Amino acid sequence: MGLNRQDMGEFFEKLGEKPFRVSQVTKWIHQLNVSDFDQMTNLSKKLREQLKEKACIKSLDIIEDQISTDGTRKWALGLEDNNRIEVVYIPEDDRGTLCISSQVGCALDCSFCSTARQGFSRNLTVAEILSQIWLATRLLDEEKKPGRKITNVVLMGMGEPLLNFDNVMKAIDVMLDDFAYGLSKRRVTVSTAGVVPAMDKLAERHDVQLAISLHATRDELRDDLVPINKKYNLEKLIPACQRFMEKRSPRSRLTIEYVMLAGVNDTKQDAEDLIKVLDGISVLINLIPFNPFPGSGYKTSSNNAVHRFQDVLMKAGLITVIRKTRGEDIDAACGQLVGKVEDKSRRENKFKVPRIGMNT
Ligand code: SAH
Repeated sequence: MGLNRQDMGEFFEKLGEKPFRVSQVTKWIHQLNVSDFDQMTNLSKKLREQLKEKACIKSLDIIEDQISTDGTRKWALGLEDNNRIEVVYIPEDDRGTLCISSQVGCALDCSFCSTARQGFSRNLTVAEILSQIWLATRLLDEEKKPGRKITNVVLMGMGEPLLNFDNVMKAIDVMLDDFAYGLSKRRVTVSTAGVVPAMDKLAERHDVQLAISLHATRDELRDDLVPINKKYNLEKLIPACQRFMEKRSPRSRLTIEYVMLAGVNDTKQDAEDLIKVLDGISVLINLIPFNPFPGSGYKTSSNNAVHRFQDVLMKAGLITVIRKTRGEDIDAACGQLVGKVEDKSRRENKFKVPRIGMNT
């Protein structure tokens, strides 16, 4: 499950097989959703036996499977070490987006995100990242409802994808591979809290969509909300955004995510500051109404505040959309993915807030 074209090529070379086996097997696994080598009928019996000896195609355990009144579907998936991750499918009129996780928990400690409360355990393997798409494809097919397809993948679930760089890049290789998921590079989005050196590396490695979780335009506030800002502050992050976009086609846009927190970052002045900070960068702004969770200490900005904020940005010519909150009734919205993590960073000890009411 976790081999990109190059890795699988090396695997088959060692077996003395020709390179075309890569496309054949990739297609069986990722397009035809086959997990049994015996079903791979265009492989010789001998090769199938060899594969059974040397490899296995294993997915993740489904621990929970919930569907929201708005059609959003969320799975909690179990990993071999008893950790859990969450995956969300979000259907829209013209597309179906799968929001996948890249790490077990998250180390970044963003103050408004419930995943942060779980602490960090480990990076997901390439296979675990791709299994989420593999499994969701199979389970959506089983619904036998028209239009329930995965057209977009966003790495906006649990974890910071750019801190699991190599595995995420390999997983993207397979997402874009025509013999696997064949997604267009414009339909795969990596979301980062601003790991600056990895943004530069990403620009060289993959031409996928990038989203920056900005949320604040002053270091003092951003240090609080997105603590990785203490390492890569705005003076480093904004030029990194510029460098990233210089390597992209002039028509492409950087997505800026901005969570709307009442009384924290949602005034007219905040919107004006955002315009200044983003000056000269081609952006699409996503305003995300804060999704509350017990003990967060934050409140969602009022509808009025969100629309006023959007108006200011739009008047300045910045394309700004208000992200619709989806799957709230099943705790599937942004920042509500918690899974169950064995915290290696012992972050939980730092919080005195009880975790009652969260979907653990
Ligand atoms: N670590 C990556 C991806 C995971 S978070 C990143 O930071 O971008 C995906 C998005 O959800 C981020 O923009 C994040 O800031 C936002 N988010 C986290 N918690 C949220 C909450 N409670 N309400 C709304 N958005 C939230």
